Amino acid sequence: MKRLYWAQPDTFEAEVDVAVVDDRAVTIDPILFHPDEGGQPADLGTIGDANVLNVELVDGRIVHRLDKSLAAGTYTARVDRQRREHTAGHHTAQHILSGLAEKQFGLKTTSVHIGLQRCTVDFDRKIEWDTVAALERAAMEVVTRNLPVETVFDETDVRSRDDLRAVTSDVIRVVKIADCDKSACCGAHVGTTGQIGVIRLCDVESKKQGTRITFLAGAKALEYSQAETSVLRELRKVANCSTPELPTIFEKALSQTKELAKEVDQLWSQRLPDLAASAEVVEVESSKVGVQIADIPETLVAKLAALIAQATAGAGIAISGVRIAINSETLDAGALLRRIQTVAGGKGGGSPKAANGRLDRGITAGELAAILKGGE
Ligand SMILES: [Zn+2]
Repeated sequence: MKRLYWAQPDTFEAEVDVAVVDDRAVTIDPILFHPDEGGQPADLGTIGDANVLNVELVDGRIVHRLDKSLAAGTYTARVDRQRREHTAGHHTAQHILSGLAEKQFGLKTTSVHIGLQRCTVDFDRKIEWDTVAALERAAMEVVTRNLPVETVFDETDVRSRDDLRAVTSDVIRVVKIADCDKSACCGAHVGTTGQIGVIRLCDVESKKQGTRITFLAGAKALEYSQAETSVLRELRKVANCSTPELPTIFEKALSQTKELAKEVDQLWSQRLPDLAASAEVVEVESSKVGVQIADIPETLVAKLAALIAQATAGAGIAISGVRIAINSETLDAGALLRRIQTVAGGKGGGSPKAANGRLDRGITAGELAAILKGGE
């Protein structure tokens, strides 16, 4: 199989001989389209007037799935150039990152993913952000040196990062980027590292025993950086500070919010006995049920229900918004909740002593009294 994208990565159009595999599936010679292989998505484009929907490896052959049937013959094939530049640029960036990571930091690549929105490389060890930043600088140096991405065949002493077993009849193809990387690979690449333009490492996270870095290259990297810059500008405006001051200011604001929430809870706690005493009392099955609907913090609803039950020496129902809690010394709290939920819907449950949950909608005191009495 002659793969054009190996030897001529900048060829996006060619005359190809089409052989029919079955309805809407063909092989072509020479092979212009990169298949879905080695973590790199398939090229798309056209063969004659048929659109290429996917390119797959089937029993060692590269099969093109089309949106219409083609008869055997010679056609002009065109690769979707923007998509290829995206996948080849990101895939070559991944070679650079994996090669440098191993050479400079002893990190072995365990997995790669080239996506259309997001690309990742997994390494075998934990690393910190300063290593990621150093790797990013080293990668950008390789980009600015504009090194050739060379293809050689049958070179010995090269390990494979990708699984080549699925492709038969091909010689082992090795991709070399000067002193930066050398590995067996079947993917599509750019011709020189300068074509990548820019490599940005966007994030790092722990992945089992190792680390996953998220990266972007070229136009996608610029798009990402512009979006982040725009968010930072907005945050600086809101907080009226410089970028380095942002983490401290936000941490302070968050801890103040937590403190204030605590104080609000305390103030409400002090009001709960009054709310319990002023609960509207309904007689249900010769037991007293105190009902209080008040806009209180969710965390205090169960406490209020317990205080009402105590104050009425019966049952207490507290509702805030759609949050409901029932506490009872006489009636079955769980059964009362189910009775209310047959009218107002919602989720939750509990025991005869205490139940709590959510309703699908708010409810008025009058409506609640009618529900409770209607069940008698
Ligand atoms: Zn490659």
